[in-house]
Amino acid sequence: MINNFFNLPKKPHALIVKQYPLSDFVSFLKQFMKSIVCTNHGCNLCPWCKKIEQEQYYDLAIFDAKIDLKKNDIIETQNKFIKSGLEEKNIKFLVIKNIDFANKQVLNCLLKFIEKQDPSVYVVFSTFNYPNILPTIKSRCSTISITRNNEIIKCFLDKTELNSQEKNEIMQCFNDFNDLKNMITEFVEFNNLINEMLAKNNIAIFLKTLKIFKSLTYEEINLFLEIFKQKVDAKAKMKIIDYQKKLFLNPNKSLLFDNIINLIKNR
Ligand SMILES: [Zn+2]
Repeated sequence: MINNFFNLPKKPHALIVKQYPLSDFVSFLKQFMKSIVCTNHGCNLCPWCKKIEQEQYYDLAIFDAKIDLKKNDIIETQNKFIKSGLEEKNIKFLVIKNIDFANKQVLNCLLKFIEKQDPSVYVVFSTFNYPNILPTIKSRCSTISITRNNEIIKCFLDKTELNSQEKNEIMQCFNDFNDLKNMITEFVEFNNLINEMLAKNNIAIFLKTLKIFKSLTYEEINLFLEIFKQKVDAKAKMKIIDYQKKLFLNPNKSLLFDNIINLIKNR
């Protein structure tokens, strides 16, 4: 059904993408853009398709209403889009994720934007909560649903070496496929590092890991400690839990890392 959609000769200029949990909006968006910009409805081979795949298509403004979206963002985009595009194709995309979180001012602004029906502009909204979208927006947009791709998710989760119960638990924590993907990528990286530290137990690997450790956010450090915790004895585990509890105090990362090294050395 989605493939039929990409092959339509004319794509809607205002589209709502109804997302189910763990559906991959980024991949959908890329394919949608390719199907419009590429003369072959998205061949995945031509320079335009490659440009979009590598996220280097510049006539694209993307916002997340859940994080931060102001009326001014829309007005600025509108002003930018009035001029001819940066890309020679002169096809522009405005994308707003989680449109159901947008405030009234933003929505009014968007309504005017859609009503102008500029033929060079495509507006795409995504949502996990379709019923919460204003009827005035719905009536001006086409709608498509995207579900999750279990094969791809399974491939990602298999990299973690978690058991099936743990995999299920992780899947429950995420709605957004990209958040899950990023977390798993980090998980695999941390898991390999920790295994290497525990196996080699030498200064070279500690220094390498320290460098990475210092660049992590506290949220990432929490994930690092979570993985580490599973690989040590009960006494060390208690200490790690204690470090995790104190992460909100933004402790010195080098000192925290020293403590972790000591736990490894004193095994
Ligand atoms: Zn192409």
